[in-house]
Amino acid sequence: MVLIRRDLSLKRFNTFGIDVKASYFARAESIEEIVELLEDHRHYFPFYVIGGGSNILFTKNFGGLILQPAIKGINIIDNGPEHCIVETGAGENWDDFVRWAVENNLGGIENLSFIPGSTGSSPIQNIGAYGVEVKDVIERVNYLDLETLQFFSLSNSECDFGYRSSIFKNKLKNRVIITSVVFKLLHHPVLNTAYGNLQEEINRMGRADLCTVRNAVISIRKLKLPDPELTGNAGSFFKNPVIDAGSARELKERYHNMPVFPVSDDRTKIPAGWLIEQCGWKGKRFGNAGVHDKQALVLINCGNASGIEIMDLALKIKDSVFSQFGIKLETEVNIL
Ligand SMILES: Cc1cc2nc3c(=O)[nH]c(=O)nc-3n(C[C@H](O)[C@H](O)[C@H](O)COP(=O)(O)OP(=O)(O)OC[C@H]3O[C@@H](n4cnc5c(N)ncnc54)[C@H](O)[C@@H]3O)c2cc1C
Repeated sequence: MVLIRRDLSLKRFNTFGIDVKASYFARAESIEEIVELLEDHRHYFPFYVIGGGSNILFTKNFGGLILQPAIKGINIIDNGPEHCIVETGAGENWDDFVRWAVENNLGGIENLSFIPGSTGSSPIQNIGAYGVEVKDVIERVNYLDLETLQFFSLSNSECDFGYRSSIFKNKLKNRVIITSVVFKLLHHPVLNTAYGNLQEEINRMGRADLCTVRNAVISIRKLKLPDPELTGNAGSFFKNPVIDAGSARELKERYHNMPVFPVSDDRTKIPAGWLIEQCGWKGKRFGNAGVHDKQALVLINCGNASGIEIMDLALKIKDSVFSQFGIKLETEVNIL
C-alpha cells in the first residue's frame, strides 16, 4: 500500500525551494504502486507528476496529489558491437545515469552531465547542454496514460522532439506518467567538444575521453550556475528565442555584438541570457527574487521568495526584453 502524506511542504521537492504545500503527496516505487494510486484516487484529485522538481515553479499550494515516480533500475537490454541499449526507471537520477554511462565507457550523454532531475523527465523538455540534446540518444519512451491507465511506448520519432520540447510538453502534457526511458548509447563515441569553452577546459585537463568531457562540463557548470542546495533556482528560466533570420539581421545591424546562431536557412537563435543582460538585469534583486550575477538567464530565490515574487520578476524581464528588442521570451520552467 502506498503511503499518502497530507499537507506536505514541497520546499525540499523543488530546486527553487518554494515553500508551498501539497494536499496529498505520494512516492511510488513501482509501476504497480502507480497503478494502485491511480485506480484508487484518480476520480478525486487533480494529479501532478514530479521528478526532481528542478524545472518547476510553484506559485501556490497544490490542492491535489503530487505523485513522484521513484521507479529505479538501469538495465542493459541489448549490447551490440556499436550500441548498448539501456532502459532506466523513471526515478533514476539523471546525473547518476550519466556517471554510470561514463564509467562503463558508453558515450552520448557525457555533455549532459550535472543536469539535475530524473531520467523520466529528461525527454519531457528534451534536455540539452553543450551542443547535445537527449533526443540524440533516446530510443523509446514508455508511459502510462493517466486517464485510461493503459501503457504505451513511443519511438524517438513519435516523441516529436524539438528545442526544449516534445509531445510530452504539448499533446500529452499532464496526461501521462513516464515509467521508463530506453537509451541507445555508443561504444565508440565521437566526442562533441565544439560548444563554448568546452574544448579549452578539456585542453587544460590534458586528456580527451568521456571522463574528461564529463569533468570539464561539471567544472564549467559549477562556475556558471548556482548550486540549488545553496541558492534556489531552476536553471534557465526562459528558452532561447528562435526568430526569423531577417529580423535577426536587422537586430544585428543595431547591436553588432549580439550573438546569433542560425538554426536553419530562415530561423536564428538568440541567447536569451544576452538579451536579458542588455536590459540591465544581471545580478539585480527585487525583494527575495533575483537574477544570477554570472548568468542572466537564471532567476534565483535569494531567501524566502514566493513563487509569485519569482513570477513577477520574470514578467518584468519579459516586458523589458520585448520593449527593447521586440522579442517575446517564452518560459522554459513549468509554472504551477
Ligand atoms: C541548476 C540547474 C541547471 C539546469 N541545467 C539544465 C540544462 O543544462 N539543460 C536542460 O535542458 N535543463 C536544465 N535544467 C532544468 C532541469 O534540470 C531539467 O529540465 C530536468 O529534466 C527536470 O527534471 P526533473 O526530474 O527535476 O523534472 P521536474 O521539474 O520534477 O518536472 C518537470 C516537468 O516534467 C514533468 N514530469 C516529471 N517527471 C515526469 C514523469 N515521470 N512522467 C511525466 N511527467 C513528468 C512534470 O510534471 C513537469 O511538468 C537545470 C535545472 C537546474 C536547477
